[in-house]
Amino acid sequence: MPNLAALPTDIHVHIQPWDMMNPRAFETIRENREDFPLIERLMGDPKALVAWLDEIGLGRVALINYVAPDVMGFTHEVNPWAARYRDAAEGRVIGFGGVHPPACDDVKDMMRRVVEEWRLDAIKIHPPHQGLSPDAYRTGECPELEHVYGACSDAGLPIMFHTGTSVFPGARSRLGRTLVIDDVAVDFPDLKIILAHAGRPLWMDEAFFLLRRHPNVYIDVSGIPPKRLLQYLPRLAEVSHKALFGTDWPSPGVKDLKRNLDQIRALALPEDAIDRIVRKNALDLFPIPS
Ligand SMILES: [Zn+2]
Repeated sequence: MPNLAALPTDIHVHIQPWDMMNPRAFETIRENREDFPLIERLMGDPKALVAWLDEIGLGRVALINYVAPDVMGFTHEVNPWAARYRDAAEGRVIGFGGVHPPACDDVKDMMRRVVEEWRLDAIKIHPPHQGLSPDAYRTGECPELEHVYGACSDAGLPIMFHTGTSVFPGARSRLGRTLVIDDVAVDFPDLKIILAHAGRPLWMDEAFFLLRRHPNVYIDVSGIPPKRLLQYLPRLAEVSHKALFGTDWPSPGVKDLKRNLDQIRALALPEDAIDRIVRKNALDLFPIPS
């Protein structure tokens, strides 16, 4: 067993139960992927994932699952799936689950199961794929979201929001706007919030503002081509204690997880900033269980 605390973590990988995915979404991912056989093998076999992580020198990966029945086909069944996968992956997986109040009869019970029964590590909300604005608990459109945030806050589970646009058929990119998450951070000051993709490409200035405004708001840099990261986030070094390495592999446009990691390590940033981004911040947010 490698020393996981010394190795990098990819905080944003999509290994999901693809048999649930609707055909249009599936094709969006499968198109032009030369590494499809590898992806398929990893989907079905946590041990294959462990072997692959050893091969590429990665400690842990966060597997991002969420519930988006209409756009993606994913139901709440992703939660027990993510827990089972994580439990079989020898400590190498951080398991994200999801909740979609419009498709859930009892949100309180779902959150209880997320925390107590499946012991998931975090929740992912994908506003453009769920058709839900993060502040929908304030507008009356989805009051149950308040319970989702409260339950995560009480249990110490971080919550990740997709921020920025999405190219999947049916996705509503308007809902990827980042500034509305200010309300969530104000109303739930203890909730740890990760802004996936840092609002790319339209709302990165909003993400940067939230990062500096709220002590518990973080970004991940997934989905941003590493070579252009400093163009998109020129002040990344200033916020390197709140930025997490992630790839979004195997989403469209993300070719190779290991190459992304190497390119991040080669950026013109101080060495300690790079170490925080690829390794230390993820350890602080998701400590290795003793
Ligand atoms: Zn993603």
